[in-house]
Amino acid sequence: MTVSKGNMETDSAVYKTLLESTKAIPWKIDWHTLEFSYIGPQIESLLGWPPSSWVSVEDWASRMHPEDKEWVVDFCVAQSKSGTDHEADYRALTKDGNYVWIRDVVHVVRNEHGEVDALIGFMFDISERKTTEEKLMVLQKELEELSFKDSLTGIANRRRFDAILEEEWAHALRNHQPLSLIMLDIDYFKQYNDHYGHIQGDDCLKRVGQILGSAATRSRDFLARFGGEEFVLVLPETDAEAAKKVAERCRNLVFKAQIPHEKSQVSQLLTVSLGVSTIIPSRNDEPIRFIEEVDRQLYRAKQKGRNCLVQSN
Ligand code: GH3
Ligand code: MG
Ligand code: MG
Repeated sequence: MTVSKGNMETDSAVYKTLLESTKAIPWKIDWHTLEFSYIGPQIESLLGWPPSSWVSVEDWASRMHPEDKEWVVDFCVAQSKSGTDHEADYRALTKDGNYVWIRDVVHVVRNEHGEVDALIGFMFDISERKTTEEKLMVLQKELEELSFKDSLTGIANRRRFDAILEEEWAHALRNHQPLSLIMLDIDYFKQYNDHYGHIQGDDCLKRVGQILGSAATRSRDFLARFGGEEFVLVLPETDAEAAKKVAERCRNLVFKAQIPHEKSQVSQLLTVSLGVSTIIPSRNDEPIRFIEEVDRQLYRAKQKGRNCLVQSN
């Protein structure tokens, strides 16, 4: 079948109308001259630069966010040279100095000898999608933080503690280093709540959380609310002697805060009992057994009369 010249003209007019009425912006670059042989007029309404100002790939590269420019240009040139279709997301500069997120989808056209002849592509405005993605990322980060935080005291929660202990355990195991754990429980806190009320009880827990936050000072020291009125401190690369010092500091700091506790049977002020233990983990040890061991020391501190620490070796 032969196609008459008239039909071909009609066809290309139709294609042109189609191309120029879509939201995607079509373009074509001659690979030998690296110049635009075509760019859709829609580019002007998106970025403000008229089609006539898109002469060479230089114009394209210079209208790109400085942070994106290098990798986008390098990537697109490399892909084009190897004759691979590709796409890239980047921020394009608008005439009034703002940036619009663009997805450029590129098809490599070869001649009959298989050599790269031209690049044709479409630019899509993806700014809305990027804004949504960015908002989602912020939300996800917030959610992640929330899921690791105790909502009352603002310090790390039990879940976070489990994760950190596992990490530090593995680290200590690998490096044959001591790992210490301090468990801390407020004395006669039930009586505190009964006497001062739950709201003040909550405030007291917040206060203790803050106080303990200042007790351990090394960057990997980690404090969490273990549950109820119990707190836990993970002290990596800390031997028994150093752990004892930190525990003693915890006890002192709480006592020195002079939080009244009229119904306590050990003092008129709020006190804590502490269990402390140190381990250089070996293959046969398990973190859960270590926690139980520290908990036993805490129980012994309670039995000994409270407001004290008991340490196992
Ligand atoms: P001991 O000296 O043996 O530790 O006695 P205790 O009264 O502190 O121990 P017990 O475990 O019997 O009581 C803990 C109390 O802590 C009971 C509970 O009402 C209180 N508690 C636990 N979580 C919270 C909380 O989030 N807010 C408040 N206000 N109280 C809490
Ligand atoms: Mg308790
Ligand atoms: Mg208690």
